[in-house]
Amino acid sequence: MPKQIQQIGGTQEVFLTIAGKNIKAIETAIKAVEKLGGRVIHVFPPSGMVASVPPASIAKLKGTAGITAADAGAVGTQTIKKASPEVAEAMSAWNEHVCEERKARALASPILGQSWGVSSQQPPDPPAEVQQRLRQLEQQLLPKSSARASALGAPDMNLPVLMGRIAVGLVFVDSTVAQYAITDVEKQKVVTETVEGLNLLASFEPRAGIQWFYDVKRPKISLAASQFTAANQNSWEDLWRNAAMTSMGYAGSATGMGNYINAIKQAFSAQWAYAIFVTKYKAAWFAYYWGNHVVMDFSVDGWGINEFHRVLAHETGHVFGCGDEYTASNCTCTSLHGRYQVANGNCEKCATNFVPCLMAHNTSALCDYSRGQLGWNELAVQCRGATTLKGTWTFDFDTGVQGPASGADLWWQQVDSVKRFLVPQSGAMLVNMGKPNFDAVSYQTLKSQPYTATPINGSNNSSNQLKAGTVIAIKTNAGRYAKLRVDSYGYNLGITWVTYK
Ligand SMILES: [Zn+2]
Repeated sequence: MPKQIQQIGGTQEVFLTIAGKNIKAIETAIKAVEKLGGRVIHVFPPSGMVASVPPASIAKLKGTAGITAADAGAVGTQTIKKASPEVAEAMSAWNEHVCEERKARALASPILGQSWGVSSQQPPDPPAEVQQRLRQLEQQLLPKSSARASALGAPDMNLPVLMGRIAVGLVFVDSTVAQYAITDVEKQKVVTETVEGLNLLASFEPRAGIQWFYDVKRPKISLAASQFTAANQNSWEDLWRNAAMTSMGYAGSATGMGNYINAIKQAFSAQWAYAIFVTKYKAAWFAYYWGNHVVMDFSVDGWGINEFHRVLAHETGHVFGCGDEYTASNCTCTSLHGRYQVANGNCEKCATNFVPCLMAHNTSALCDYSRGQLGWNELAVQCRGATTLKGTWTFDFDTGVQGPASGADLWWQQVDSVKRFLVPQSGAMLVNMGKPNFDAVSYQTLKSQPYTATPINGSNNSSNQLKAGTVIAIKTNAGRYAKLRVDSYGYNLGITWVTYK
């Protein structure tokens, strides 16, 4: 009997098998999970999925909406044998995911938490000259209209955000040539590691509703070693990628790859899509990305195959807008990244308060700057805006209204021509956060502030705590979290605010 792992409260992951064999059946099952207060995180068409649900609901899933099995522990060997190859692979990956030995092994890893820039291993980003060539390729692929926004810091709506349903084309570029051939065991390991890495990314922000839909392919090509020479090393990826695309029925070109990625995006009704190519063929680096795809090998340089998941999560972070944060990448705290052009303030070289992050180290953590770059600070916004908070007036962050009849969260009190206080009202509380990057202050950070009902001194003298650039965290009287930045100081305060649901 497969072991059932009990959990009280919270949400628990569960592997669901459904009877249906098409996208409609999958959608029906997803709706049923959501109705029970859960969410589906991974979908392995045609009939497997991983959901996160309240433990008490697990028993209710089986027999509902075409769901034939709901396993909180490992899926039985006999069940795996009877499943389709795609779903059997997903079940095996799941069994590894819930395996306690794997967790213990992962925790004992001596390279857990190491900087990507550590000297004993190569970083998961190619050297500068290769990077430059990859960024040029991206520019060529981008249509003219989607050239970088001209106003620095303005959102670039052509860049993806890590939210909603994302189609993942996991392409194993296999070969008839022995040295490049991929074994079933190797493929299974990479599927397991891929799901693990993407699960990690999805777990950082449930409100982003991330749902990975997998399309696993294994084109077998027959390019020989002699076709990869020093002279054509800039085209190594083109050689095997184009051959793989042709084998998959697409044009053997970057356009063909784009068409494949679009096809899975449409087939799964996804918001975004990207491809992960895994191969033993030669490539410019062991892990890199450009445009809408990632290239990985099996050895992951010195990091080892057991760290594939975090390297992949790092690369996927890049695809969705994150900048590198480790010193050896030559990051800067002022460069802007992602759709919302959020500064890279956790770059370990210059960060005032560096925190562990996947974009800096081999660690299962994500900093606020990366969150902002992925678009997550735009999630579940109750209201936002920029206004002039007039002297003696109040402001309600739940509605974004100045001087409301009731429900104001703070009062910009003017005691006399010098003494001024920002006073929390009707149960609201404040924290002066100093001058962090406003766009990068996440909902998580706002939730964990030490709020008090103490007024903040904004007097027109040396004790003023409300100079331009100051960020105030607010817990509103309705229990929401908000952030306010002082844009200009005076009798009237120029403010920008965002309130989260
Ligand atoms: Zn990187």
